[in-house]
Amino acid sequence: MKTTRTTCPYCGVGCGVLATPQPDGSVTIAGDPDHPANFGRLCSKGSALGETLSLDGRLLHPEIADKRVTWDEALGHIAGRFTRIIAEHGPDAVAIYGSGQLLTEDYYLANKLMKGFVGTANIDTNSRLCMASSVAGHKRAFGSDTVPGNYEDLEQADLIVLVGSNLGWCHPVLYQRIAAARAQRPEMKIVLIDPRRTVTNEIADLHLPIGPDGDSALFVGLLAHLAQTGATDPAYIAAHTSGFDAALLAAEDWDIARVAAATGLAPLAISHFYDLFARTEKVVTVYSQGVNQSAAGSDKVNAIINCHLASGRIGRPGMGPFSVTGQPNAMGGREVGGLANMLAAHMDFTPEAIDRVSRFWDAPNIARKPGLKAVDLFAAMARGEIKAVWIMATNPVDSMPDADAVRAALAACPLVVVSDMNRHTDTMDLAHIRLPAAGWGEKDGTVTNSERRISRQRPFLPLPGEARPDWWIIKEVARRMGHAKAFDYETPSEIFAEHVALSAFDNDGSRDFDLSGLIDADYDTLAPVQWPIRTRPAARMFGDGRFFTPDRKARFVAIQPPPPFAPAPGGFILNTGRVRDHWHTMTRTGKAARLSAHMAEPFVEIHPDDAARLGIRRASLVRLSSRHGTALVRALVTDRQQRGQLFAPMHWTDQFASNGRIDALVPGKTDPVSGQPALKMAQVHAEPAAMR
Ligand code: SF4
Repeated sequence: MKTTRTTCPYCGVGCGVLATPQPDGSVTIAGDPDHPANFGRLCSKGSALGETLSLDGRLLHPEIADKRVTWDEALGHIAGRFTRIIAEHGPDAVAIYGSGQLLTEDYYLANKLMKGFVGTANIDTNSRLCMASSVAGHKRAFGSDTVPGNYEDLEQADLIVLVGSNLGWCHPVLYQRIAAARAQRPEMKIVLIDPRRTVTNEIADLHLPIGPDGDSALFVGLLAHLAQTGATDPAYIAAHTSGFDAALLAAEDWDIARVAAATGLAPLAISHFYDLFARTEKVVTVYSQGVNQSAAGSDKVNAIINCHLASGRIGRPGMGPFSVTGQPNAMGGREVGGLANMLAAHMDFTPEAIDRVSRFWDAPNIARKPGLKAVDLFAAMARGEIKAVWIMATNPVDSMPDADAVRAALAACPLVVVSDMNRHTDTMDLAHIRLPAAGWGEKDGTVTNSERRISRQRPFLPLPGEARPDWWIIKEVARRMGHAKAFDYETPSEIFAEHVALSAFDNDGSRDFDLSGLIDADYDTLAPVQWPIRTRPAARMFGDGRFFTPDRKARFVAIQPPPPFAPAPGGFILNTGRVRDHWHTMTRTGKAARLSAHMAEPFVEIHPDDAARLGIRRASLVRLSSRHGTALVRALVTDRQQRGQLFAPMHWTDQFASNGRIDALVPGKTDPVSGQPALKMAQVHAEPAAMR
């Protein structure tokens, strides 16, 4: 029995997995002891991967209008319709909506097809829902979308600040690494900043139950505190940054009393946190969806980065701001430019980059301006401006905010193509053309995790039915659209080699993303490797104090914290999120009985006082409603939840629970800088629905 080294398809930790098919058809799963992300550990989701591989529910043949067709018919139909729509309405009338589940090679080809050859940047991704605010914050501060941290920094830090991150459930192996390090080094302190008292609180020394969108105020106040107490690093600020005075001017009125009023936190607790941060040299600030999924997400990111720049705590072991990504290949998608506002290989739509990428791809028709970000893309579809969309490996009818409006937009769109594994998802059910895509265990390619480490996903199962890898499907459509020469690939390794070459093309060191050290690497045996991988020895990101701005200095951003977000009169603020044992819309984890046993149905967490006031009893049904939709969920009455706030997971869809789609309640409000939707902040009402 052959064991295959591959990578977990769930969260951005990117754990190495050993998969061994057994004679009875089952697959034994174990953590890869040699993978630097997990050193053999797996969480509940990863260890149950073998229970999610059945072909039940799989889409095994292409379909047009519910009828089985050949691949040639399906590919020809897509290419013909896309070509005609582009000819009649222009390139901006078509779009691709991709996913952090795609492998880098898939992503690269989808981006190349749209931006290079169709001539539109209307290619966005569900990663817009996950980390777009971090991308924007990085670019504003560093001049590049660079995550400075490594996982070892979490073990070396003396203070870890977790902001809007339930690491215990959402990045469990990182949580385990921190817990193990803390057991070895009791002097390590952990601060949890989260409106809820989550499982992650079990390792926290201090929990700050911050009010909705209070993060900017908390970190603006911290910047002021660092300056007032002499805890900044003036030499670092002078040598390696710009904009400090303006950022400090914006912060100077934010004393602890004002921060307390804006965040709902006790002044003593704020003071304790500020003192800890000020006196501890090795500080890592980890942040995740609680920061990113906000209408002020980019400002929150920069408020955090400002504090690390002001204290010089970046680019050295055990310190730095650290955005942990949600998806297995959110980072790989960023690397290829698979966001509507990026061009390719970490290059934006600058005249120089357009010229460079156009020459590299030999693509004179290259897109010259950013395209529509996810929320805007579906809004344009609702207005009839997008006439054809190709959705890959994602389920926006459930995961987008204002999900009912997204469903209506897709229902009205003249051409909806969906490539995915399952015959039925709420999105697949709206497709005119269904394409059976290869799944985990069948796909061959690379992913990049939250610490910029590229790992191989390798196949260990045969392709079922007529399923094909995404890269193959994209290149076959591209060839039929007249781009055979530019899409002449036979293997994913050829695509990866081109991706590596583009990262190094005309790169004089002024771009962060550079894989030139992999030019001669053997794809099949590629071991997990962290970028930058330049031909010269890789150094710690920003270890030399040089950033990727024109003057090579990091930029402070002056932050004006938003006013506190309030519920509607008589209502609640709904915070959406995840549970330990499910992933996204459960298309894979929903197949494993033991994963569903943890949380069996959609629920809402509500404080006991609120539940008593509304007559909501433990485990009774609750109807949640907003201006955008409704959901029927079970009450989980708990004082982990603050009064006036609710928490509900986003996993359940119409495939698993009637009227359980939580994102149908959330408005399509976005961060103006990043375009990331504020999925953690909806105004809703709750009422008892029926007795149990
Ligand atoms: Fe997979 Fe994330 Fe769990 Fe690791 S921590 S096994 S990557 S879900």
